[in-house]
Amino acid sequence: MKTIRVREFGDPEVMKLEDAPDLQAAAGQVVVRVKAVGVNPVEAYIRTGTYAIKPALPYTPGSDAAGTVESVGPGVEGFSPGDRVYVGGTLSGAYADLALCEAWQAHPLPPNASFAQGAAVNVPYATAFRALFHFAHAQPGETVLVHGASGGVGVAGVQLARAAGLTVIGTGGTDRGRQLVAVQGAHHVLDHRAPGYLDELLKITQGRGVDVVLEMLANVNLAKDLTILAKGGRVVVIGNRGSIEINPREIMRRDASVSGFVLFNAGRQEVASIHAALVAGLENGTLRPVVGKEIPLKDAPQAHRAVMEPGAFGKIVLVPFAMSA
Ligand code: NAP
Repeated sequence: MKTIRVREFGDPEVMKLEDAPDLQAAAGQVVVRVKAVGVNPVEAYIRTGTYAIKPALPYTPGSDAAGTVESVGPGVEGFSPGDRVYVGGTLSGAYADLALCEAWQAHPLPPNASFAQGAAVNVPYATAFRALFHFAHAQPGETVLVHGASGGVGVAGVQLARAAGLTVIGTGGTDRGRQLVAVQGAHHVLDHRAPGYLDELLKITQGRGVDVVLEMLANVNLAKDLTILAKGGRVVVIGNRGSIEINPREIMRRDASVSGFVLFNAGRQEVASIHAALVAGLENGTLRPVVGKEIPLKDAPQAHRAVMEPGAFGKIVLVPFAMSA
């Protein structure tokens, strides 16, 4: 098999394509022939060696992929070789053309979703779902600001919120990104780089503010978010890259709350429940992952640079060597 290995922490170039022995499924496990790999910002943070999660070296990055079941271990029910699946977490790392998973980490990929779309499901959609429904307890009829709607988690948040009957306001930093946010179902689209763009949000909501904020860059936006919340509003911090000063009185006067999470903290039962909803959404077509860029697996360093740059447009997906050859 071909796999990306990180043998030392550092710049994107520490990721090298290597040959490795094929993987074997033990009891309760499946091996997946990977056709596409989802690239998430957290994999770039981990690769630097300065993030809270620091894997033992060497390691293969990645948690998200889609492909077909290659083999199943003893005791696995519900999967057979050839089945189309997407995976949320692996034992061996997803940046490879084979991935070893616990059977519970694999989920059926409906025929209407491509492998690239399947690779774009796990972290973005599970995060947006957890934020909207398990943390913000969003209700139909409420209004949500998806603050950073043009990337992987943002597009997922827009689609999930729209399908659930919320009024959706999404932001993007480029014309192309904002067009994507509109096409994916946002009722209103704002430019998070334009001065005074949140005044526009207050006009849209007739001065009331929003019930929920899904925040992708809290170190820049959290103080502003608190000022555009309706009474009882909830901010969920999803992304953060630094510190920020806030005025807690803005929370108090609105009976508001701020929460945050990392998806890795979700327990097995919660994960199963989230993926049951996501598979249903893929099947009925309300969830349509957007793949903005496909990059060959061997060029993983290019993907890590791209995922940290501004100008997001859906997901970046790696295509294994075997597929692009
Ligand atoms: P992504 O695909 O790279 O998208 C980044 C998003 O942030 C884009 O929509 C980008 O918009 C937007 N953004 C840039 N500057 C902004 C600003 N000033 N205000 C608001 N938004 C801004 O990344 P992703 O996969 O969607 O992840 C988003 C963030 O959540 C990342 O920081 C990631 O690490 C984090 N995350 C956390 C969890 C968790 O468990 N808590 C899970 C997944 C992701 P433009 O490029 O159009 O400007």
